[in-house]
Amino acid sequence: MVRFDQVAKRYSGGKEALAGVSFELERGEMAFLTGHSGAGKSTLLKLMMLMERPSRGQIFVDGQNLNRLTPSQIPYHRRKIGVVFQNHQLLFDRTVYDNVALPLLIAGYNHMDCARRVRAALDSVGLLGLEGRKPVELSGGEQQRVGIARAVVNKPALLLADEPTGNLDPDLSEEIMDLFMRFQQVGVTVLIATHDISLIESMNKRRLILEHGMILEDRHVF
Ligand code: ADP
Ligand code: ADP
Repeated sequence: MVRFDQVAKRYSGGKEALAGVSFELERGEMAFLTGHSGAGKSTLLKLMMLMERPSRGQIFVDGQNLNRLTPSQIPYHRRKIGVVFQNHQLLFDRTVYDNVALPLLIAGYNHMDCARRVRAALDSVGLLGLEGRKPVELSGGEQQRVGIARAVVNKPALLLADEPTGNLDPDLSEEIMDLFMRFQQVGVTVLIATHDISLIESMNKRRLILEHGMILEDRHVF
């Protein structure tokens, strides 16, 4: 589903954030991406979403070489990817429904399909019935689940998360991990960037460890 082939990224005026990174993720695989602050985790995720371009090397997502995508293909590429952020980036003046529906509206779905998919997404994270609420009325864990519902409402093949449990206590973090595992079980490829070591230790999953922009260790779990 994902292949990095000797990928390097140097920001203009900066040092090398990634220096020759290669790895593959199978379809339906779940892995953690970890490493110290500044190791290159966010950069790696941004390259997959085409929020940044590599300085060297090639990235394949779902068989497509991202270097070869034309501008008109980029929105279709992004629809294959759901993204979960630490601060979930919800619109606080909009309802839960509007927040989750946002990627569908951008993609041009009609109202009926939109409503059906939003309900399915909220159901998948256990928040059915909260459509009319505003994010401020929800707990931190519920807000993060709204962020996950928004990320999966398009039924993406690939789910990326950047420190998704950064603001949550251990119990809530575990609930969020259970959700990610459920998406993995239905065939979604999941990559979670986190430096929460205790969380990673509690899960028997593959670990990609970045250090100074290089893969220090790729620990598979069988
Ligand atoms: P992590 O997510 O592991 O903390 P990042 O990918 O955010 O690491 O950062 C990797 C390196 O790239 C760091 O040295 C960081 O300062 C640098 N960096 C990240 N984004 C930019 C940017 N937009 N411009 C310049 N340097 C950046
Ligand atoms: P830009 O305008 O910088 O190109 P994007 O269009 O990639 O940014 O993303 C804008 C916002 O939409 C992101 O901050 C993110 O919250 C959200 N987003 C983008 N792609 C997805 C996706 N596949 N699933 C869920 N949310 C997404």
